[in-house]
Formats: sequence, structure tokens, C-alpha cells
Amino acid sequence: MMTARILPVIDKDNEAFWTWGRDGKLAIHRCADCAGYVHPPVPFCPRCEGRNVGPHAVSGGGRVATFTVNHKAWVPDLAVPYVLALVAIDEQDDVRIACNIVDCAPEDVTFDMPVEACFEACEDLWVPLFRPVRA
Ligand SMILES: [Zn+2]
Repeated sequence: MMTARILPVIDKDNEAFWTWGRDGKLAIHRCADCAGYVHPPVPFCPRCEGRNVGPHAVSGGGRVATFTVNHKAWVPDLAVPYVLALVAIDEQDDVRIACNIVDCAPEDVTFDMPVEACFEACEDLWVPLFRPVRA
């Protein structure tokens, strides 16, 4: 597995995204006023400017909106090649999560490929990753 992840600084807005994986849940901020999802997590809604925004467990399903294969080990211990992707969640197409695609050879990743969230425990965080949906 990949090591040497660069872990985020946790604050009250992004804490759910990085920790709900402990319970197998992908947390995406949602606005209670207009029901829109917001990512990266911020305490207000860019659609309706509401402040009634908080983490909500989504299905974890999505599709690969765009991706790139990285062949360079930027830090020691980083296994290459690996896939950096933007995954659009099933609930809302313009919510894009920057992540790695795992459990799949980099050459097998395709645009629009259905994926599902999985999590990798890393220190006290659960890093959201995505893997192909197996038929
Ligand atoms: Zn809103």
C-alpha cells in the first residue's frame, strides 16, 4: 500500500471527511436549506449562501471524472505509479473529490469508471480512497 501520505490539517469543517471512514462512511458537507452538497467542506453554502451546512453521509458511489497517472516518487517510500483522480459523487455531479484510485492497475482506470469509496487508516485519520465497483 502507499505510505508517506501527506495528511491534512484537521479543523471542524473537514474533520468528518477525514474521520467518518472509521465507520465506513463518506462524509460530504450538505446544505440543509437547498440540499446542495459542498466540497471541499466549508461552513457556508456557495449556492444559497446559507450557513446551515454540515457533514452528511453519502452513498460512497461515484465515477472517475478525470485522472492522471503519477510516475514520479515525490517523496521516498511513495509507491509509483499511482492514480490521482477527481471523483464525482453519485449524489451531485459537480462535487469532485481529489483522491487516489486503488485496487486497480493504473492502466485500467478509465474516464467515467464507476467507483466506490474505501478508506485507509493513517495515524488517526481514515483517508477516503476510491476503488472500481466490481460487477
Ligand atoms: Zn444552500
